[in-house]
Order: sequence, then C-alpha cells, then structure tokens
Amino acid sequence: MDMIDPFGRTISYLRVSVTDRCDFRCTYCMAEDMAFLPKKDLLSLEELDRLCTVFIEKGVRRLRLTGGEPLVRKNIMHLVRQLSRHLASGALEELTLTTNGSQLSRFAAELADCGVRRINVSLDTLDADKFHKITRWGHLDKVMQGIDAAQAAGLKVKLNAVALKDFNDAELPEMMRWAHGRGMDLTVIETMPMGEIDADRTDQYLPLSLLRASLDRQFTLTDIPFKTGGPARYVEVAETGGRLGFITPMTHNFCESCNRVRLTCTGTLYMCLGQEDAADLRAPLRASEGNELVAEAIDEAIGRKPKGHDFIIDRRTSRPSVSRHMSVTGG
Ligand code: SAM
Repeated sequence: MDMIDPFGRTISYLRVSVTDRCDFRCTYCMAEDMAFLPKKDLLSLEELDRLCTVFIEKGVRRLRLTGGEPLVRKNIMHLVRQLSRHLASGALEELTLTTNGSQLSRFAAELADCGVRRINVSLDTLDADKFHKITRWGHLDKVMQGIDAAQAAGLKVKLNAVALKDFNDAELPEMMRWAHGRGMDLTVIETMPMGEIDADRTDQYLPLSLLRASLDRQFTLTDIPFKTGGPARYVEVAETGGRLGFITPMTHNFCESCNRVRLTCTGTLYMCLGQEDAADLRAPLRASEGNELVAEAIDEAIGRKPKGHDFIIDRRTSRPSVSRHMSVTGG
C-alpha cells in the first residue's frame, strides 16, 4: 500500500493548501493585486477530508495544512476536527499547520483540543513598521497575540523567517535570541523564485551560507541531527540554548530525502514544489463515490515524482522557475 516513488523514496508527508487566499500580501510571495481561484473551483471541506483520508490510507503519517492562509478558509476548524479522528485512531502521527498567525488568537485553543501539538508561524521581522511593509496588510501586534495564545494553549511554536537581503539579515540574531528566549525554534528559509511578484528577487535573495558564516562569528553553532520531518538542517546555539534551522532550496537542495507531495485546494497534486508537473485528483474524486479511481490517480502521480528541482535566481533569469505562487501549493 505504501507510496514509493521511482527513486525509492517513501511518501509519508502530505501538505494541503486549503485555500490560495491570504489576509497578507508578503512582497516576496505575492503581487498586491493577486488573482485568486474562483470559489467554485475549490474542493469542499468534505472533499478535502476524503482526499486526505485516501492519502492516510496509502501511508501518509504527517499532514500539514497550509495555504494561502489556512485559518482564513471558512469553517476550517470543521476540517481540522474531522481529520483529528485519524490522530485518535493512530493512523496519523501528526496533524499540524503553517500559519501567518493573524487568526491564531481565535483558533489556538481549538487547534490544541483537536490534537494539534505544534504549529509553524511565519514571521520575518519583530519590527512593527517593517512587518507592515513586508506583509503589506499585516499587523505585528495581532500575530504576537496569536503566538501568545498558541503558547498558552500548549502548542509548540516554531517560527519561520524568510531571509531577505537588506531587510531582516541584520535582525536575525536578535529574532533568534527572542524566539529561543520564549522556547521557540527558529528556521530561516531562502527565498524561492515562485510566481511573478512586483519586486526583483535578485535584490531580495540572501544565500544562507552567508548568513551562517555571519552567525558563526557571533555564536557557537553546532550541527545536530535533529529533524522534524521537514527539510531543515539544524544547529544548536550554545549562547541561547535553542535550535536554529536552515532551509536551503537554493544553495543546497534537499530533494534526495524528499518524502512529501502537495495538494492544492482544487485537488491538484504537485509531486515537487519546484516543478510544474501535476496530477488532477478532483475529476477521479468526483467521478465515483468509491475511492478506487482517486487511489489509482495518486499511484500514477507518485510514479512520476521527479528527482528534484533546480531553482535559479540571478539577473539573467528574469522569469520565475515555476509560474505558480507559493500560495497555491503552500510552503
Ligand atoms: N499563510 C501561511 C504562512 O504565512 O505561513 C502559509 C502559507 S505561506 C505561502 C508558507 C511559507 O512560505 C511562509 O513562511 C512564507 O514566508 C513562505 N514563502 C512564501 N513565498 C516564498 C518564496 N517565494 N520563497 C520562500 N518562502 C516563501
């Protein structure tokens, strides 16, 4: 029953983008006047649950809800509550989500009640003005309230920051001290060339090898084998006692250990974040009340999962490596 791709990798991790809409417009992620998918194209929450259940039956052990902003999808807690039955049965090891934190003060307690144990919150700066500038529509105080609520509800919070040249590079040591002081891991991510945005990515791109070298001069960093099921490589920071993760899709891709596939809110399955190839699962899902057709379509798709991706950001390459925005497939 296990899903094994042509390179022998077992697929046990599903990321589900439950909506492509977001209440922020982060400059490196989206254009300000984004065109979103028509609501009529979306899978219903029941259909998303059915698809996730098929994946769980086929060996998915970890499931992450993402977006867009997952917590702005109407009635999202209904889906979380439904999926939590797979935690209760033991079929699923972990149900989690990646969020911008804006709605967390409303939902943190209920997420914890549904069996969610840890969440990732995306946060690129601790400066309220800079935060508003980079997210265009976001307010730092709401996110801070959300993080407080999540920790109060007992959720383990990991912060994700996209490293952006001349924006937050100088601030990252302070963010790390702050995160570690509050018992949160911090992961830094290289910006990826996905979708047209209003800015020039060459101006934003900061190779994490440079950040690591700069942090090495200020802190004692020790590589550790710690893993959370994702692509981050971690170091322990002696001065803070916390963990710092590096996600380096540009300078060092991590495809050889890729265990994941990504489902969009319209039922499109992407076998690789950095490739255009995809499989439609909506048609086979709707074509039959049973799950045989969709299970077949999943097997066929896993059978053509590519070896990996090669993102390029440089001044000669003005087009993004993949045309869709990160908000379509989630982070
Ligand atoms: N709205 C949720 C959030 O903010 O976490 C989930 C979706 S968001 C697309 C997931 C993550 O992708 C965020 O941490 C965001 O900063 C990151 N991201 C978006 N566009 C990116 C890009 N082009 N390169 C690298 N990371 C990106």
